[in-house]
Amino acid sequence: MKTGVYPGSFDPITLGHVDIVKRALKIFDRLIILISVNPRKQTLFTKEERIDMIEQVLAECLDRITIRTSDTLTVHQAKNLGATHIIRGLRALTDFEYEFQMTHANRALDKDIDSIFFMTDNKYSFLSSTTVKEIAQFKGDLSSFVPKYVKQKIEEKFYK
Ligand code: ADP
Repeated sequence: MKTGVYPGSFDPITLGHVDIVKRALKIFDRLIILISVNPRKQTLFTKEERIDMIEQVLAECLDRITIRTSDTLTVHQAKNLGATHIIRGLRALTDFEYEFQMTHANRALDKDIDSIFFMTDNKYSFLSSTTVKEIAQFKGDLSSFVPKYVKQKIEEKFYK
């Protein structure tokens, strides 16, 4: 059984993340979504809210997905959870340099855990959770960036 770990903040999960999950599930039997929880980093949504949104949005494939929060290095957590690969998404231009550094650092920490990259659909290649939050602040339409359930949760946060 091939297991991959997909780490990120998912604050909130966007259609770009969903696209990467769907692609990864074609190759991996099981996926562990690892939500980074950094007490020094402020997030819009709590860990519980982020988990709830992921569960709702990926309901139809939850039998192959486990959601965990991350409290240690991704490579260590990947190994402890029986995963062989770290899954990452690549967007237009910006992600490469950071991912390049992270992959080499992770390899130095554990040579058995490799990283694998998926390119998202073109229409999501400029999409980030940060962009979504910026658009939300100015009441822009989020329909083409996040699933309906997430849109509703963002609206509750910003407009109620
Ligand atoms: P963000 O950078 O949007 O705040 P995360 O920290 O949650 O997102 O990112 C987790 C992983 O998902 C990273 O590998 C990131 O490159 C990838 N990712 C995020 N948004 C997209 C997208 N629109 N298309 C492809 N990959 C994405």
